[in-house]
Amino acid sequence: MEVDPPPAPAPEATPAALPGDSFYAVDETAVDAQRQAKPWTQDATYFKRVAVSPAASTKMLAHAQRGCEAGVKAGGKPLEVMGLLLGYPDADASKRRLVVTDALPLPVTGFETSVVADDDNVVNYMIALSDLVEKTRKERLMGWYHSHPFDVDEDHDNCFFSSTDLSTQLSWQNAEDPQGNPFLAIVLDPLRSAAKNSAALAAFRAYPPAYTPPANQCPDGEICADDARRVEVWGSCWHRYYQLDLEYFMSGQARAIVDVLNRSHLWAKTLSESHREDTTDRVAKIADKLARAPGAQPPRAPRLGGYGGLDALGSGAAPSARADQAPLSKAADAAAGVATEALHGQLSQLTKRHLLCGCSGFQRAVHSYLARKGQVAKPCA
Ligand SMILES: [Zn+2]
Repeated sequence: MEVDPPPAPAPEATPAALPGDSFYAVDETAVDAQRQAKPWTQDATYFKRVAVSPAASTKMLAHAQRGCEAGVKAGGKPLEVMGLLLGYPDADASKRRLVVTDALPLPVTGFETSVVADDDNVVNYMIALSDLVEKTRKERLMGWYHSHPFDVDEDHDNCFFSSTDLSTQLSWQNAEDPQGNPFLAIVLDPLRSAAKNSAALAAFRAYPPAYTPPANQCPDGEICADDARRVEVWGSCWHRYYQLDLEYFMSGQARAIVDVLNRSHLWAKTLSESHREDTTDRVAKIADKLARAPGAQPPRAPRLGGYGGLDALGSGAAPSARADQAPLSKAADAAAGVATEALHGQLSQLTKRHLLCGCSGFQRAVHSYLARKGQVAKPCA
């Protein structure tokens, strides 16, 4: 018997240049021309969006998480952290976009809405950092970030400007914007990021004092007539700053690496997947099949631990009903499939707990914190 030769492996695709690549090949002449023209000094809402690199977003989130960990470990509340952003205005002026390439943590921590940064050491650190950036990088320090590790609210995140944040941002903008360096602010909500398993961060710029925004317009552009709601979500300075759209970019090469990692570590992905999704739907469908199978008793009211239609299986097939067994055995097979998958799901949950310790130290800290606040019923082991 002839056996077909195994198919030749597909040639590795060379990563094509993706839109993200353009952020790494900056047209410096075009950027300098913008820095000279300073169009942002003439238009209060000149910038509309921000592109953030994977390095910058990862470093900001990790830094914010470390602040939570440090605060909780010391027996108190999660600490706010602060850092600076590196980047440039997009060379394509029509994009009205700022590009953030890197984030540099500062040795600053604080509580609630006041991030203290007037310590001599911090100022010296920032000055040394600024000198170093000037000598070694083509980008400039073009923004700052800080975290709001406040209680998780189901309704909205904690990415907003306090009055302190607004005045800090205005100081930056007043100093840097006229120097051809439009300044940006990013606020992160690390507890929500952990609770919702997705990055909660937002980018803002302050309105110059002379600018009057449309009545009742929130920083995200929504018109909200509810006075209390505007303050609740955006703080008391809701009418003095606006939010920029956030996008993330990744180079073609980075995408290729992530792709290889995905393929090589699929086991980790499998372990992280939930096997409980849509099980309820599938069980309901099986029950439906059973109920409609010829020879099945009409469904009775569900009782504890079983579905009325399942009696059809237990009643045993009478000789006259044998021809009708096909639908029943299909339903039984499907039921066995669901049971096996549920078992695999349980096994992988156990394996994950042992292999990966359930969750990172940070998540444990956050979960412990939230548990103390009564916001998560069960902290991780
Ligand atoms: Zn703040």
